[in-house]
Amino acid sequence: MAADAPRPLHTARLDAHGDSFDDNGAATDIGGDRYLEFENLVRRQLELLGEEPERAGLAKTPSRVAKSLTWLTRGYQMDVADVVGDAVFAEEHHSMVMVRDIELYSMCEHHMLPFFGKAHIAYIPNGTIVGLSKLPRIVEVFSRRLQVQERLTEQIAAAIEDVLHPLGVGVVIEAYHLCMMMRGVEKQNSTTITSALRGAFRDDAKTRDEFLRLAHGPSKPLR
Ligand SMILES: [Zn+2]
Repeated sequence: MAADAPRPLHTARLDAHGDSFDDNGAATDIGGDRYLEFENLVRRQLELLGEEPERAGLAKTPSRVAKSLTWLTRGYQMDVADVVGDAVFAEEHHSMVMVRDIELYSMCEHHMLPFFGKAHIAYIPNGTIVGLSKLPRIVEVFSRRLQVQERLTEQIAAAIEDVLHPLGVGVVIEAYHLCMMMRGVEKQNSTTITSALRGAFRDDAKTRDEFLRLAHGPSKPLR
């Protein structure tokens, strides 16, 4: 980032639950002048939309929007090394490890509207495994930013490759994009599916087929 680039709003490192934020307007530490600037921009945005920012229902909206957008993009302040911590373990297991149906919420960088769906992640260990709960956390690091689904899918695969140096990684994301569903085209039920396949998942047809069959198979609740 260039030295004179605007400093982002986030000044504090946020935990995964976004506890620095409080929808009731309690004190937060994301603040300072830039936070006020953000509120003013939202107020102006309301005016440009033909609204009256001072009316009762909207009075606190600029503050809420500034907080929620900051929270929804908190991934900028997270990194994979922090999230994974020391949860990498030596293990001689050479079969596919897969976590399916990881909830995913992101925002498209073209319209700043949400897209949401599920990620399915698998890897084949090469001497180390990662705590299973860390896979959804890695998804958070990259999904809680302005994104395109294609890049998000690749970034998750690259991160797992960096952490584990596995024999292969596969990531499939299926998502609904509000910018498609709510705007002109109104393709209400279309999902966008992206995949990133590396190592054995790309080179070995049997592994790839097994992964894609598991990823695209029907999900049924265990309970
Ligand atoms: Zn979009």
